[in-house]
Amino acid sequence: MATTETKASSNFIRNIIEDDVKNNKKEKVVTRFPPEPNGYLHIGHARSIWLNFGMAQEFAGECNLRFDDTNPEKEEQEYVDSIKEDVRWLGYQWSGGVKYASEYFDQFYEWALHLIREGKAYVCHLSAKESSEYRGWATKPGKDSPYRNRTVEENLALIEQMRAGEFDEGACVLRAKIDMASPNMNLRDPILYRIRKVAHHQTGDKWCIYPSYDFAHGQEDAIEGITHSICTLEFQDHRPLYEWFLDNLPVPNKPKQYEFGRLNLNYTVTSKRKLKQLVDEKCVNGWDDPRMPTVSGMRRRGYTPTALKAFCDMVPVSKSNSVIDVSVLERAIRDDLNDHAPRAMCVMNPLKIVVTNFPEGQTEEMVAACHPSKPELGERVLPFTRELLIDRDDFNEDSSLSRKKFKRLVLGEWVRLRGAYIIKADEVVRGADGEIEQVNVSLVPDTVGNDAPEGIRPRGVIHWVSAECGVPAEIRLYDRLFNHESPDQGEEDFISYINSESLSIISAVVEPSIADCEPESSFQFEREGYFVADRYDHAAGRPVFNMTIGLRDTWANK
Ligand code: ATP
Ligand code: MG
Repeated sequence: MATTETKASSNFIRNIIEDDVKNNKKEKVVTRFPPEPNGYLHIGHARSIWLNFGMAQEFAGECNLRFDDTNPEKEEQEYVDSIKEDVRWLGYQWSGGVKYASEYFDQFYEWALHLIREGKAYVCHLSAKESSEYRGWATKPGKDSPYRNRTVEENLALIEQMRAGEFDEGACVLRAKIDMASPNMNLRDPILYRIRKVAHHQTGDKWCIYPSYDFAHGQEDAIEGITHSICTLEFQDHRPLYEWFLDNLPVPNKPKQYEFGRLNLNYTVTSKRKLKQLVDEKCVNGWDDPRMPTVSGMRRRGYTPTALKAFCDMVPVSKSNSVIDVSVLERAIRDDLNDHAPRAMCVMNPLKIVVTNFPEGQTEEMVAACHPSKPELGERVLPFTRELLIDRDDFNEDSSLSRKKFKRLVLGEWVRLRGAYIIKADEVVRGADGEIEQVNVSLVPDTVGNDAPEGIRPRGVIHWVSAECGVPAEIRLYDRLFNHESPDQGEEDFISYINSESLSIISAVVEPSIADCEPESSFQFEREGYFVADRYDHAAGRPVFNMTIGLRDTWANK
């Protein structure tokens, strides 16, 4: 079951740090966010960023941004750049320069030699298949490798050969000598180095052996003086190994690892591998497609750093993995935009109305507040002309419709145009195909900013745009990318659960005041939802808006 908790969350990590600070155990809190640059960041990473950078901020400490680039194959500069941009956009600044695990490769190699000299590491020639047989399984102890008792000299010579490229990939590995019978599989002589004859995006061709994640991670933390190494739950069983390295190497610091539950969202996949598949198979238009749960996709969709952080605040930091209802995230952005987004009018499906008692060629400037409760957001001018556009759905010929159900314009009755006159629908004009082409209306004088006169009862308030001054706009309407609650847990491949109606593009007309707005400006289109000017495609006079979220949760009753 997905949870819909919204109160500020409990946070056991904060409690630990607070205690450490209180008891003077740590001079200064130092955390790190250590992404592997093999994809764009997603909402789960935003969670980890919020926690690591957030804790450092709260306790006047520092947080490092460190690329965990121990795996040369899948990593690319594009990912490094996007990750930096996303962290900054979220409003965080890492301490000093960006760090790379690969900066420490020399040190790791030194430490590997140290373990060999101490008799705690050896070069093993078992094949991958043999290794896994020797490893045993959870309930069956492993067996010692026949290479386990090589002499220090032999091991030193072999690692040097490995490093010099004298062995093929897979020919041998360097392993720690710990305990093949340990109930913790991670301690059964784990791999420290493997041979990979590929160039690395930071170190080029300097290395053909690369450290394992386990051998690198804790030592990176130690070198950087990390005090609290916060990671996700799957590393819990690795903690004894993390500590074994710190205890057996001459490291300058002893960081401590703490694990918290991964964040998952329903109707969403949060795995870089799967997100990459969506991009590679062109199911979406790139990593920053507004339907993607990536930080850059959410940004393009109109999510704000404030909303993402508010969302993280709502979700408890716990010791178990959780699936959060995506409506919690949607509510966070809706609340933020409701508070901050200026109001504007956009007619999605235009129907022309002609105000027969308003002179042709004349414009009356209506002035409306940009926000109902934030005068500081200023005012905007809405040109009122003889020809206007309203939404087709806001007009009906049938005057028997109940006033309660249809609070819009009905033939023979009145409605108020938002921020302007009350009008009455007098006559319908049809085209050759019988479709309503135009509605002739008349305005009730002196009703701008004034109550309706006696005997006139407008059914409601509708939005409108001047037909002459309104600006055509491309509107991209989005829905959830998947129509299955847990797309990657279903019976089919997750790709088969893609919602084929997750994107529709329509042309609409917006009020002129927003046609020239800056890219990434957000608005509430009155009675429609929240929209953002596209970061890339929107240009002055040629507006393109992406739908961020509707005014209400339309999935709640599905
Ligand atoms: P993915 O499975 O999507 O590739 P990952 O954990 O392999 O994720 P990393 O680049 O290694 O990705 O992660 C960087 C940091 O972000 C790690 O500390 C990781 O624990 C954290 N992180 C990744 N996904 C989540 C998530 N869903 N919830 C919380 N933290 C996460
Ligand atoms: Mg990973």
